[in-house]
Amino acid sequence: MAIKLQLGSSTYALKVDPKEATELHYGCPVEGRWNICLCDVCQRQIEEDEEMWFVSEMNEVLCEECFEEFIEWKYPHFLHKIHLIG
Ligand SMILES: [Zn+2]
Repeated sequence: MAIKLQLGSSTYALKVDPKEATELHYGCPVEGRWNICLCDVCQRQIEEDEEMWFVSEMNEVLCEECFEEFIEWKYPHFLHKIHLIG
């Protein structure tokens, strides 16, 4: 199930798996499988068994590594929360 992380009053991040990403129309539709999502930062394709983060303020999808770097840079006080979410 998607996890919402409120970063500020109007900013949030949403952790989703490829099925949820497809339902939210992220990524590129592919017949017979979940959408293919690329990380908007490193351009890496997110694997089918991987989760990703949608960041509302950038309107971008980030892989877990890039999201962690983003949080470390912009919202360092949230870093422990991400580690709790896993
Ligand atoms: Zn990335």
